[in-house]
Amino acid sequence: LQAQYSAKRTKSASFFKEADSVIAGGVNGNLRFFQPFPMTFQKAYGAWLVDLDGNHYVDYLLSYGSLLLGHGHSVVRQALEQVWEDQGTSSFGATHPLELEMSKEIKELYPGFERLRFTNSGLEATLFALRLALAFTGKTHIAKFEGHYHGSHDHVLVSVNPELNQAGSPETPQAVPESYGIPDYYLQHTIILPFNDWPACERILTSMKERIGAVILEPMQAGYIAADPRFVVNLRDLTEKLGMVLIFDEVKTGFRVSLGGAQAFYGVQPDLTALGKVVGGGFPIGVVGGKQEILDMCSPGRSPKREEVVFHSGTFNGNPVSLAAGLATIRYLKQPGKFESIVNRTNELRKGIESLAQSFEVPIRTIGAGTIFNVLAIEGDVSNYRDLSRNRKDWRLALDYLLMDNGVYSKPLNRFSMSDAHGPKEIQATLEAFEKSFAAFKATVH
Ligand code: PMP
Repeated sequence: LQAQYSAKRTKSASFFKEADSVIAGGVNGNLRFFQPFPMTFQKAYGAWLVDLDGNHYVDYLLSYGSLLLGHGHSVVRQALEQVWEDQGTSSFGATHPLELEMSKEIKELYPGFERLRFTNSGLEATLFALRLALAFTGKTHIAKFEGHYHGSHDHVLVSVNPELNQAGSPETPQAVPESYGIPDYYLQHTIILPFNDWPACERILTSMKERIGAVILEPMQAGYIAADPRFVVNLRDLTEKLGMVLIFDEVKTGFRVSLGGAQAFYGVQPDLTALGKVVGGGFPIGVVGGKQEILDMCSPGRSPKREEVVFHSGTFNGNPVSLAAGLATIRYLKQPGKFESIVNRTNELRKGIESLAQSFEVPIRTIGAGTIFNVLAIEGDVSNYRDLSRNRKDWRLALDYLLMDNGVYSKPLNRFSMSDAHGPKEIQATLEAFEKSFAAFKATVH
């Protein structure tokens, strides 16, 4: 399959070779690489991508889920032209009206945001939320869940690795660094919890209540594995009781699981939330929002002594380009029926994939919520990271190469995100690609 992939992408192959001679590994982010080489795209419009060799794809990666309206949507373009005319492209190093407008718009959907701050990425949002939480509680440790991703900073690049048998039991998860170069400090100060396993979580959190100041989680792991509603409620109650700040990382689920994120879906209010991706309308952004008493820890007027204030800074925080694009995106999505129609199309596509899988007797299913789903070769319950190790990655990978061959791109082993630009034509093209891929899959794998 990889030979077939390479043969159809000779221009991408030579481009990657050249890129690799200047850019480390040829990619600006490790997850962008896959074998034998990632393709290079020359064009994007609506739901579509065109690679250097002229192959067209329906795009389900969508800038890792950021583009809920698809590529180059007209409302985003108009907003960009306007902001360019009105105030240029960078922040003034001072608060400007668009920041206030955007804050109010977000607050309507996330009523728990008594205060907020803008950052430039999801990574910065989770990092800052954790710093606020530790300052607020005066504690030293954070707790995170197995396999939950919160961006590429040291404190959260710690997990378990069931594939390498480095997981320990769910009762005592064994923390391992997820990258070379993570100082031991973070390994010792990041406690790992098993997702959706309430008795084990309760025991670990209670036994370390003096030290753990923050519990951070993706309320839907990787955007598609839902927490049991009782688990979320239990976690909310226990963290409150034990004096821990509960942080929902909704960088992925925000505006995608529902417009108000997973917190609206579950009806559970965390103390802090990290947002990113969709809220920037395709431009870099992050948001930390939540309880005033916690966010106020970073208020510069709080104390003349710098050491008594939580420091937060960033040259491009609140940059007008991201805010204008994000504001246009949110307002568009708030129109009656808009968001629901993307969810309906997502469900239609998932149903189509599942019924094709059944008729071809291919052991593939979809799992997800709202406008995100994943395609897995797995049987039985999937409620946490350990369950995912039962996924037949080799099968999914085979399917991925076949799908790329037939004009569907989500990047190997990645989730599928939908957009407003994925209409009937794109859904039909996708289902035709799945049909051809399933037929070939049977010939390849069995
Ligand atoms: N948290 C979650 C849940 C994410 O999915 C991501 C990005 N995939 C991040 C944080 C990090 O965001 P960014 O890539 O903007 O730093």
